[in-house]
Amino acid sequence: MFPTRLVAAVLGGIVALVLVGVGAPGAAAAPAAPAAPQRAAVQTTIYYDSSRAAELAPQVDEAAEIWNTRVTSVKLVKGTAGITVITAQNGSAPGTASCVGCTRGQIYFYRNQIQQSGAAALRVIVHEFGHILSLNHPPDIGNCDKVMAGGRCQNAIPSAEEIAAVERFWARGWRPAKPGPNPADEREVLGAPALVTR
Ligand SMILES: [Zn+2]
Repeated sequence: MFPTRLVAAVLGGIVALVLVGVGAPGAAAAPAAPAAPQRAAVQTTIYYDSSRAAELAPQVDEAAEIWNTRVTSVKLVKGTAGITVITAQNGSAPGTASCVGCTRGQIYFYRNQIQQSGAAALRVIVHEFGHILSLNHPPDIGNCDKVMAGGRCQNAIPSAEEIAAVERFWARGWRPAKPGPNPADEREVLGAPALVTR
């Protein structure tokens, strides 16, 4: 009986080991499984501080939300550093951004120049965030369908092309920031007549 018991004990041990062996990787793999089908997506967070944006602060949040709901590779998050947003009375253009494709810098808005431009304030704000998010001015200045085209327009929703360009830029990961547009260009673009499209 002894050899039989030994065999039984050995077999029992093997069964136990196999069960443990099978159980362990299965248990370990289970929590990781839901992550596997997801892409190794890169998402850059850009913090913005709107504590000095005065009465435009709610529209600054709204502009951030307009971009956030349309792109996934970058996210604008209200915070205390990163992009400082400042509203002042008089300046060189309705709005200016200090850099293009950047996570640290300044956006300025000037009340009198926004009013004089005839463009919707929200459009100007979405435009300046567009520069931060990497966009430059397109050739068709005054095209109301594009927030980066400036013009005396009300539309504050970026075009599909603009959204795709932002998405592509940040999906590639970090790249050095470029200087912002010069204030004279910014004044000209944001105050340009709206293009008449048929
Ligand atoms: Zn601009």
